[in-house]
Amino acid sequence: MINVTKTFLPDKEEYIKYVHEIWDRGYITNNGPVLQQLEQELKDYLNVDHLYFCGNGTIVLQIAIKALELKGEIITTPFSYCATSNAILWENCTPVFVDIDAQTFNIDPTLIEASITPATSAILATHVYGNPCDIEAIEVVAEKHNLKVIYDAAHAFGVTYKGKSLLSYGDISTCSFHATKVFHTIEGGALISNHPELDKKLHLLRAFGHQGDDLYLYAGINGKNSEFHAAMGLVNLPQVPNIIQARKEVFEAYDSLLNWDVLSKPLISSDIEYNYAYYPVVFPSEEMMFRVMDALREQEIIPRRYFFPSLNTLSFMPRQFACPVSEDIALRVLSLPLYVGLPYSDIERISGIINGHLSP
Ligand SMILES: *Cc1c(COP(=O)(O)O)cnc(C)c1O
Repeated sequence: MINVTKTFLPDKEEYIKYVHEIWDRGYITNNGPVLQQLEQELKDYLNVDHLYFCGNGTIVLQIAIKALELKGEIITTPFSYCATSNAILWENCTPVFVDIDAQTFNIDPTLIEASITPATSAILATHVYGNPCDIEAIEVVAEKHNLKVIYDAAHAFGVTYKGKSLLSYGDISTCSFHATKVFHTIEGGALISNHPELDKKLHLLRAFGHQGDDLYLYAGINGKNSEFHAAMGLVNLPQVPNIIQARKEVFEAYDSLLNWDVLSKPLISSDIEYNYAYYPVVFPSEEMMFRVMDALREQEIIPRRYFFPSLNTLSFMPRQFACPVSEDIALRVLSLPLYVGLPYSDIERISGIINGHLSP
């Protein structure tokens, strides 16, 4: 079976060396030395000053919302994984969905202003597929209306925008290090902030708001991660350039093999070094998308509908918004298998099946 993704596993012996070390020390969680080393190496790699390694890419969204004391309405994208808008709901805020740009599939900054009300406190946008949002335009509108900006950068590890890590933008950026992402720590995530004054708060919010022996300073949560997860990160981090190079080769193979007279794909920014996180293709109709998906599944090839449904259409959203572009693309998009070690012969076979089912 060929799945949409396959977890990258590093050299087992290298990981086991850390396991022995952790075992001998007898200290397995709560801000231990391996975790602190990972945080330092991530800061060096990403060239950022303030980074907190946490339990996953969802709790970091919640902590970001909490840390910035957001209330009321948060403007967000309907074209993302449900974790983005669920985090808003979980923090008792209201997601206000703004439609996406038909070329980049990221939130359309020209539509944001019309959705701002006196209750709006922030913009939470996803760099979908690791392709940067229109950061400059979002900044202009956020400054004009005094809004905070959080980027869900779950897809953006390893991406640089104008020479800087894409994770370094916004008031806070969050990342996911889940096993399915470009860089992983089994489960994991990170908060990256540009505010030194938030340091202590972020540090404390991820650990119950509990400082030292008996100080309880915030209504914090358990967003910690363990030494074993941090060790996976330390072993995987040096592999990131190889991982990205291998993904690039798969990506470029699809680029050259698929029939672009019929298919289309999002426009990737030219101001970036990309991480090749996903390979989404858009079909002219949902009917054709299903036809191709069924043909692939028959051959035990499992693409995924990333991202479907458009989040504004989920039944539990408190308010209704029309996002015609997002709703339309969500119906027609499929993400194809993309991972380190996917053989060229399989990419050819997958592309052949797809191209063979594109007649109207
Ligand atoms: C994966 C993902 C998350 C959630 O990350 P977890 O580490 O699985 O909690 C959040 N947002 C987006 C856009 C994602 O793709």
